[in-house]
Amino acid sequence: MFSVIPIQPLFRQGDSPLGRPVDVLRMDKIHTVVSGNKWFKLSGYLQQAQQAGKKTLATFGGAYSNHIVATAYAAQMYKLKSVGIIRGEKPALLSHTLQNALAYGMELLFVSRTDYKDKASLQINIDPQNAYYWIPEGGYGKLGADGIRDMLKGIPVWDYTHLVTAVGTGTTMAGLIQGALPYQKIIGIPVLNNQDSIMQEIKVLLNDQQMEKDFQLLPDYTFGGYAKKTADLITFMNQTYQSVKLPLDFVYTAKAFYGLNDYLQITDLPTDSKVLFLHTGGLQGNQSLPAGTLCY
Ligand SMILES: *Cc1c(COP(=O)(O)O)cnc(C)c1O
Repeated sequence: MFSVIPIQPLFRQGDSPLGRPVDVLRMDKIHTVVSGNKWFKLSGYLQQAQQAGKKTLATFGGAYSNHIVATAYAAQMYKLKSVGIIRGEKPALLSHTLQNALAYGMELLFVSRTDYKDKASLQINIDPQNAYYWIPEGGYGKLGADGIRDMLKGIPVWDYTHLVTAVGTGTTMAGLIQGALPYQKIIGIPVLNNQDSIMQEIKVLLNDQQMEKDFQLLPDYTFGGYAKKTADLITFMNQTYQSVKLPLDFVYTAKAFYGLNDYLQITDLPTDSKVLFLHTGGLQGNQSLPAGTLCY
């Protein structure tokens, strides 16, 4: 189920409206609920949990976190228990994300936004014996980046000059930079208002040699911040689906693809360029939009 990641040719050389050919790595296709990049980011943590003989995975996230659902699902697959520490008081009606996590057997613990900020204290209070295997929020960390780097080994990555991804914690982008070939450029589009710290957080996951590689952030596509959206973004999503049958999620991939469109329109890339856009998943998040917002 998780082995082959399909590649969708979007625009070919010659008739690309963006001037250069673009393919999409459909990581979203590996599972309907478990978001593409989250699965690959988790694999190293799961192995470590197993080696340590842990019976329970624990992690942190918001009510719409793709990482929470992916962790719940992964735990169930590996016959482990899971605990999700959720930011904010328990709502009357659970989000689809949290309903899915529950369905995969995750125990949800709701904590106030203030308490959520102090993860170290939460961890000690919830798990005083240190019996759980704790995965950082969003899967951020070296093991997460390693999983993305290893994922690249399963695809014809040499065919591309530019790899493009949405950026949350920056773990996926760090993994792409780690695995990048000498002639490749990695472009990341941040979706959170963390412009001041995100480059630093990515660099923490790189060694000196990887730091020399060619990578860049396009900072102007947050559309107001995490999970915020504009009418323009929704229109863009519907148009993209109608014209090239590419379904995007409004939290991550739509913003990244919007940024890529602008970038290709204003940048004159060498003629032999070929772009790979990572569809990192997250489509389940669209369930929180009012019915009829999207045409897919
Ligand atoms: C989490 C997520 C990202 C961001 O990945 P990071 O490794 O945290 O930067 C991008 N796209 C989707 C769909 C996600 O769920």
